[in-house]
Amino acid sequence: MLLLGGTAEARSLADRLVGLGHHVTTSLAGRVREPRLPVGEVRIGGFGGIDGLRSAAAGVDAVVDATHPFAERISANAAAACADLPLVRLVRLVRPGWEPRTGWHLVEGHEEAAAKAVHLGHRPLLTVGRQPLGRYAGPLRDHAVLARVVDPPDIDLPPRWEVVLDRGPYPLMRELALQERHGSDVLVTKDSGGDLTVAKLD
Ligand code: NAP
Repeated sequence: MLLLGGTAEARSLADRLVGLGHHVTTSLAGRVREPRLPVGEVRIGGFGGIDGLRSAAAGVDAVVDATHPFAERISANAAAACADLPLVRLVRLVRPGWEPRTGWHLVEGHEEAAAKAVHLGHRPLLTVGRQPLGRYAGPLRDHAVLARVVDPPDIDLPPRWEVVLDRGPYPLMRELALQERHGSDVLVTKDSGGDLTVAKLD
């Protein structure tokens, strides 16, 4: 099986499939410098689009798409590549989404989130990942932002911003300590679903 990964669920799945005796190769995009590696074989880096993914998938029984819900291009590429491979099954592992709670503001994208956060608080906690940070730097340049990311951002951020390098799991007590220390009054996050990052919402 070719397992498209980059999520905790993908690592668990690799563990279980290998335990059941399947031959599993997990594919990672290579975004994180020192990724947590799953059991089984691992390959790292893009395939070079649909054609590359089709070639990689041509020899397997199944492609399992266990990528993050916001990783839309790789999922679309997997669907397109497997559509041309009648002998290869495509299975998608989909996380349950979050149930909206009172006080949440649902927006369509980063620009809207940034524009809204400007007025919702003075000390935003950003957990939107490293790559979108630049889209918040302009609107929130005068806010005391705390940005939590796994790897250091590769752009200059406003002087009032603080960056915390960390990776989950984030238990409730740690989330409370972080948010209290920072004095966070608004949380900006992507609706990734699942239980693993839910403590920051609690
Ligand atoms: P994306 O926008 O859907 O994909 C962009 C390109 O990255 C793809 O076209 C592909 O390059 C390559 N790629 C993505 N996932 C890959 C994988 N598992 N194996 C090999 N190549 C992959 O993806 P993204 O949003 O940048 O996310 C990258 C990875 O981080 C994903 O594996 C995802 O599961 C994980 N992740 C993403 C998020 C998020 O919020 N987006 C959060 C947590 C984890 P080629 O076209 O060259 O094949």
